[in-house]
Amino acid sequence: MSMSAARSVSGTRERLVVIGGDAAGMSAASQARRLRSAEELEIVAFERGHFTSFSACGIPYWVGGDVPDRDQLIARTPEEHRARDIDLRMRTEVKEIDVAGGRVRARDVDSGAESWTSYDKLVIATGARPIRPDMPGADAPGVHGVQTLDDGQALLDTLARTRGRRAVVVGAGYIGVEMAEALINRGYEVTVVNRGSEPMSTLDPDMGLLVHKAMEGLGITMVNDTEVTKILTGDDGRVRAVATEDAEYPADVVVLGIGVRPETALARAAGLPLGDHAGLLTDLAMRVRGHENIWAGGDCVEVLDLVSGRQRHIALGTHANKHGQVIGTNAAGGYATFPGVVGTAVSKVCDLEIARTGLREKDARRAGLRYVTATIESTSRAGYYPNASMMTVKMLAEHRTGRLLGVQIVGREGAGKRVDIAAVALTAGMTVEQMVSLDLGYAPPFSPVWDPVLVAARKAAKAVNAATS
Ligand SMILES: Cc1cc2nc3c(=O)[nH]c(=O)nc-3n(C[C@H](O)[C@H](O)[C@H](O)COP(=O)(O)OP(=O)(O)OC[C@H]3O[C@@H](n4cnc5c(N)ncnc54)[C@H](O)[C@@H]3O)c2cc1C
Repeated sequence: MSMSAARSVSGTRERLVVIGGDAAGMSAASQARRLRSAEELEIVAFERGHFTSFSACGIPYWVGGDVPDRDQLIARTPEEHRARDIDLRMRTEVKEIDVAGGRVRARDVDSGAESWTSYDKLVIATGARPIRPDMPGADAPGVHGVQTLDDGQALLDTLARTRGRRAVVVGAGYIGVEMAEALINRGYEVTVVNRGSEPMSTLDPDMGLLVHKAMEGLGITMVNDTEVTKILTGDDGRVRAVATEDAEYPADVVVLGIGVRPETALARAAGLPLGDHAGLLTDLAMRVRGHENIWAGGDCVEVLDLVSGRQRHIALGTHANKHGQVIGTNAAGGYATFPGVVGTAVSKVCDLEIARTGLREKDARRAGLRYVTATIESTSRAGYYPNASMMTVKMLAEHRTGRLLGVQIVGREGAGKRVDIAAVALTAGMTVEQMVSLDLGYAPPFSPVWDPVLVAARKAAKAVNAATS
């Protein structure tokens, strides 16, 4: 790796400024520090919240009681970052980026004091903002988001205080279903109100229906195709019910999981380029387009979908960490790239595992691709081996070429992470015919002789042949 000299134009050591102290920002800062000593590169990071490098991904398991202690979700504390010579300024919010002047204006959240800090290199890692419904009652006590550790603690405090046992989750994406699990584990009666026709809109509706049925099997009341219109409060001002067009669902606590948007107000005001999904646009080195000394990564950027060739906004920690690594390397004068994503995600609700990668049917149609589908059911282990459970695998392959386009899996233990086979196949641009002979591991406790993903590939290959002959 060749690295450029780390001297700023003023002759002093270069200064790297990072906005946002979680996955993308602190991965970038830590990687830059690994490659450059404090004598060569000064690193200043601004974080407006109380925590750094924490796992929002773990919040549902903390709230649900699987992870007993909040601090287990913190990968690195502010003190640990400071011990690595990162000048971390907590509870300090960047209010403005002056691109022409190469500086940022930051405000101490508690005192209100403001100051400017100049940079030679800038990293924007401001994450995403949860969507709050614009409706009466949305901010009432007892209504919770779950984006930060503070949010998780506030929800736990409400659960500890509330005697009633009725919870409504608004939204049935992966955060909604994970929070439904958390509340079930806490002994709540859970209702999930969902705008889509089925939960998990990242799946095709036929696969979402499997999730729907399994959630009902867990005792969760599913209300699909329904918009929440109001959150109703009692005489004490606290939430008492969630109202839709034609019903009211009593609630002692409400959890919102209706999606996020890139947090790019600062970037927009600074004139930096945003895409159709309001995320920052970068090149493959995660450099903001048209700006040699500014990088951006994590939930505030758009990424290239390698299967459809389109820009997308996907808010996932797995990408944020990889972006941070690439940015830190480049900001330290090295070279790394992030080629894009195939759209892999895995989640669960109680013992039901849900996974997807690549394109859904509607994504394929939108991209102008003709495709065939194959759906199979198979067991997770050899049928005779104890605790074998059923899973459903749906596969999409391109018409004529047979190129794999996407896979969705719903099943019990051992189902979810099988999607990684498909993620690798997608990345390699394999056809479903090629997948059939993949040399996957086999022994009865792990899979049937024909792994469920290969059974789906075999059926998809047949469908491709039938459609072209
Ligand atoms: C409940 C939940 C479960 C999840 N589960 C998973 C999962 O299972 N798998 C997965 O891959 N992903 C999961 N995610 C998503 C994952 O947590 C995010 O994709 C990841 O945290 C993004 O990292 P980031 O650094 O881009 O943004 P963030 O984590 O949002 O960090 C951005 C930081 O920037 C700070 N900030 C913003 N603006 C400013 C400013 N102007 N000045 C100073 N500081 C600022 C914010 O306070 C924040 O700390 C989950 C998220 C949630 C909420």
